[in-house]
Amino acid sequence: MVASASAAGLASFIDASPSPFHVCATVAAELLDAGFAEVAETQAWPAELGRCFVRRGGSIIAWSSGFGDTFRIVGGHTDSPNLRVKQHIDRVSAGLSTVALEPYGGAWLNSWLDRDLGLSGRVSVLDGDGVAERLVKIDEPILRVPQLAIHLSEDRKGVTPDPQRHLDALWSTDPDSPGLLAWLAQRLGVADTDVLGWELMTHDVEPSRIVGAEQDLLSAPRLDNQATCYAGLRALLDVGETTRPPSATQVLALFDHEEVGSGSQRGAASDFLASVCERIVLARGGGRDDYLRVMAGSFCASGDMAHATHPNYADRHEPGHQIRLGGGPVLKVNQNLRYASDATGAGVFEQACRRAGVPLQRYVHRADLPCGSTIGPITATRTGLVTVDVGAPQLAMHSARELMAVADVPMYSAALAAFYFSADTP
Ligand code: ZN
Repeated sequence: MVASASAAGLASFIDASPSPFHVCATVAAELLDAGFAEVAETQAWPAELGRCFVRRGGSIIAWSSGFGDTFRIVGGHTDSPNLRVKQHIDRVSAGLSTVALEPYGGAWLNSWLDRDLGLSGRVSVLDGDGVAERLVKIDEPILRVPQLAIHLSEDRKGVTPDPQRHLDALWSTDPDSPGLLAWLAQRLGVADTDVLGWELMTHDVEPSRIVGAEQDLLSAPRLDNQATCYAGLRALLDVGETTRPPSATQVLALFDHEEVGSGSQRGAASDFLASVCERIVLARGGGRDDYLRVMAGSFCASGDMAHATHPNYADRHEPGHQIRLGGGPVLKVNQNLRYASDATGAGVFEQACRRAGVPLQRYVHRADLPCGSTIGPITATRTGLVTVDVGAPQLAMHSARELMAVADVPMYSAALAAFYFSADTP
């Protein structure tokens, strides 16, 4: 098995991709380089759909046709929790210009304080009678949310920020500053009044780094879930490099809005994956019945990060299911279906790991703590696909800065590449 994924490659991928729109742009650029063609949902698709991809906002689906009918789908999500810009942006408080921010998803708020923040996302601007989209990526430290001094906290134990009152970022010491929107319009070369809409978010501008005395850890933002986006992309590209093409069509489906429940025009609960799969079948000359038969024989490995056992909080983890950083990919099982894994999906993924020669760890959440969820159960519900929830181990999930083991990056990608070769199961 070829394994082109590395922690250094993941670090560059993450640093290039501060927003879901940039994840899609980074993935699209790699796919175009590898000879994939972009198709649009608004156009008729050609009959020969070899290696293509399609974007819907911050979501992207790519596929590489095999000689059989069924699909092997690797899923993931492009969004990460962060602080996002409100609609009336510019404020003055205590004689200082500030920028109004609010949390997106389950951001671990303390981790966002005292960090040098850049800005990214997309903006719609006036374009003749219509609207044009512009990507924004500012890696300069233009924003900062300072902590309260310890001397001003009531018990000197620190303050958990209130999401409404404590997250505005400092913009300027000048209370008459023209503000963020005017500054951004100038950067984009448009008039302030031509900026019509935005999805703008902050990111830590500190680059990702390999750390640790043995250089065996990766310190980075957005590992949840760009580690899956990257590992899945490398897997899809590696499969294309092998001499034996897999029988199934390999699909990489990366969705926006997982961190807020996936219910959107482009989230995992939308029709995006089902409609792309159906259009692939239709383009081959199949009909609705063919599509339904193909889906019934297909599998999805839904990738999202997993909790490694924290050395300082080992008691927060299920004692019989300790997950080791650097111990290989993780199968996630939950009896209350917070994860979609069933015996069939687990069997297919365990077999893929054996073929790839990587160990598989098995995660179960403590029965007395509420378990998080992911796109696996949503994808299974939406499409009827046999779905297995998998991931790679990490610490500090949803922090502005997360941590994983260097060794897990190639192992995770190799397991996903092997999954693309899984045989049909009756
Ligand atoms: Zn996630």
